[in-house]
Amino acid sequence: EAKAQGRQRAMVFEPAIDERHQVRLRMEAGLHHALAAGDELFVCFQPRFDISGDRVVGAEALLRWQSPTRGLVPPSTFIPLAEHSGLIVELGRFVLGEACRQAAAWAEAGCAIPVSVNLSPRQLHADDLIRDIHAAIRQAGLSPRMLELELTETHVMDNIDRVLPVLHQIRAMGVGLAIDDFGTGYSSLAYLKRLPIELLKIDRSFLADVPGDADDEILLAAIINMAHNLGFRVLAEGVETERQRRFLAERGCDELQGFLLGRPQSPEQLMATLRRVSGVPGSRI
Ligand code: C2E
Ligand code: MG
Ligand code: MG
Ligand code: MG
Repeated sequence: EAKAQGRQRAMVFEPAIDERHQVRLRMEAGLHHALAAGDELFVCFQPRFDISGDRVVGAEALLRWQSPTRGLVPPSTFIPLAEHSGLIVELGRFVLGEACRQAAAWAEAGCAIPVSVNLSPRQLHADDLIRDIHAAIRQAGLSPRMLELELTETHVMDNIDRVLPVLHQIRAMGVGLAIDDFGTGYSSLAYLKRLPIELLKIDRSFLADVPGDADDEILLAAIINMAHNLGFRVLAEGVETERQRRFLAERGCDELQGFLLGRPQSPEQLMATLRRVSGVPGSRI
């Protein structure tokens, strides 16, 4: 009887699970199609600024999916799905190619800035990663020093023994490395010290209630000091107000990224701004 009940219960739950599965499968098929079609996926670029907010010192490539049926799908929806299905490797290759091409174009136009690209865990374990990076910079004619890869803290820390050799290979190519969303994981300082990275990007959740929240203020100041003591530069993500910028400047943060200074934008928009502000302090995007 219990068995029959169990089966009944399973039948009640199945449709919901099945429906979610169907939604996922459809979106996955949509992403496949997008990769093949070539005009639904594009990369936008969010500028990075020095601490004064006066100078663009880099740009982060952020993938966008304009689906004909779903509209603009946020990366928070399709990246996890792509990661799960393995499609992220191909998507990542696309972003890497686009980012390097753009960075080379900016350099060509006389306003060279480095570009950063997010790497997902799955990509980090793919056999072709090093070859893909090589191919992207070579095809674009970009100096490897103008490319930086962003890795998430949790994944690196959880897989340090497998990941560390890959990170050293990337560094050996001359490509930079950053830890993204820092502070959301639980890094031990001992491990952090072993990483061949240059930059810590502090997750924007730390900044949301600053200035004002005493605990977050203390945490932010501590992270900045710790990062500097370990020899890393520090960037604060999600800077939305001038008060936040000032707070970070007072505590010695090196770089800023956020809506206050510049939203993710088309490469043409960013190029126009770079042309306008290059060498001219005081201009903001
Ligand atoms: P992320 O790498 O931490 O990128 C920063 C995200 O914060 C971007 O969201 C950006 O638009 C947003 N942001 C920047 N400044 C502000 C601000 O002042 N306020 C607020 N509220 N948000 C701000 P986006 O573009 O939606 O991307 C979300 C995440 O998706 C990224 O977080 C990254 O983890 C992932 N992602 C995006 N593109 C790629 C990609 O090409 N490959 C991989 N693997 N992941 C990507
Ligand atoms: Mg990032
Ligand atoms: Mg981040
Ligand atoms: Mg992230």
